[in-house]
Amino acid sequence: MTIILWAIPFFFLLISIELIAEKVKGTAYYRVNDAINSLTVGVLSRVTGILKALVPLTIYAVAYEYIALFTLPDSMWTWVAAFIIYDFFYYWNHRYGHEVSLFWAAHVVHHSSEEYNLTTALRQTSGSFFSWIFYLPMALVGFTPETLLAVAALNLVYQFWVHTRHVPKLGWFEYVFVSPSNHRVHHAQNDIYLDRNYGGVFIVWDRLFGTFQEELDHEPPIYGVRKALKSWDPVWANLQVYSQLMKDSWRTKRWSDKCKVWFGRTGWRPADVSEAYPLARVNLATFKKFDVQLSMTTKVYCLLQHSVTVLIALMFMLNLDTLTNSSLWGLSAFIIFSAVSVGLVMEKRPVSFYFELIKNIGLIVGLLVLSLPSWLTIALFFGTSVSMCLLHRVYRDIHGTDLVEGPIASQ
Ligand SMILES: [Zn+2]
Ligand SMILES: [Zn+2]
Repeated sequence: MTIILWAIPFFFLLISIELIAEKVKGTAYYRVNDAINSLTVGVLSRVTGILKALVPLTIYAVAYEYIALFTLPDSMWTWVAAFIIYDFFYYWNHRYGHEVSLFWAAHVVHHSSEEYNLTTALRQTSGSFFSWIFYLPMALVGFTPETLLAVAALNLVYQFWVHTRHVPKLGWFEYVFVSPSNHRVHHAQNDIYLDRNYGGVFIVWDRLFGTFQEELDHEPPIYGVRKALKSWDPVWANLQVYSQLMKDSWRTKRWSDKCKVWFGRTGWRPADVSEAYPLARVNLATFKKFDVQLSMTTKVYCLLQHSVTVLIALMFMLNLDTLTNSSLWGLSAFIIFSAVSVGLVMEKRPVSFYFELIKNIGLIVGLLVLSLPSWLTIALFFGTSVSMCLLHRVYRDIHGTDLVEGPIASQ
């Protein structure tokens, strides 16, 4: 956790560099709504990760205590071995994450962006409950829980920089390491690229186990998933596939199919359900990215609100040790509500205006009664006040009418 927190300024620095490259080269790899959605999904993942980390950590610690076969020395080689072995298990965790429906339901959120840029890297799941099982053999070998946590964080941090379209193939590097080019393949939905390149740091696992595919010049990647998300709601991004699996499992007649829905190959559906409830699949020949046009004011509003949420989430993560249980749950609920609300504004859902009104008023009241550091109070108060001034323009964008006067005469 600490390693990831330390890496956050580095993440934002690289995103800034990528945005400058976007401007200089005139590319269009970023969209405000998509980038906010990816970053918000990332914020939720960190917050929910804190809330649900206790169970897997405790199980790993108990397993280490009772089944570790060796006492490994605290040397550099133990760390190097842990780093490599972790990536081996990451490969299998990630591969099952794509190939088994239940695990895909958790992992899909990382792939639901139809853009590919550094913000995509931060789109991590909140809905993963079983991935820790893949790393239990490391407890058997004798890697301490601290070592596991550190190499897991380093593995995740490594994966950040490969989510870019600005870096071409890198020669010999492509043979050993996960690179921007071979990870672009992993995020593509083209037939030839599906279910390929699962490695986290080392691509050698894919070469060994037959899942490697090189990026081809004549086959530009089309990013996203076949059953498109078509939403900016970060909670729904985490629930979409779970919800589909639940419906299929409920609707199918045979008991064996009810089970196979969850543990079968990703994409498999019982015949009776797929006939009665067919799902629309993306046609790559006519593929169009999901988008909802927003006015410049609404974009600025969403960026401002997103910044406020990120600031609160950062403070939340930096002050975990001093938070009471009720503050922990209260702040988590606020961050999740805020993240969903901005997502709904970007979808122009009418209810989002009222959500935003309630949230901003609540935030101002909160700032008046809580004793936060003064710089934070000023920053949040500024962000919220400017947001409140913009809110009537947001209403106009969402509804196509003015808040007070009614329909816009000039439009
Ligand atoms: Zn993946
Ligand atoms: Zn990725």
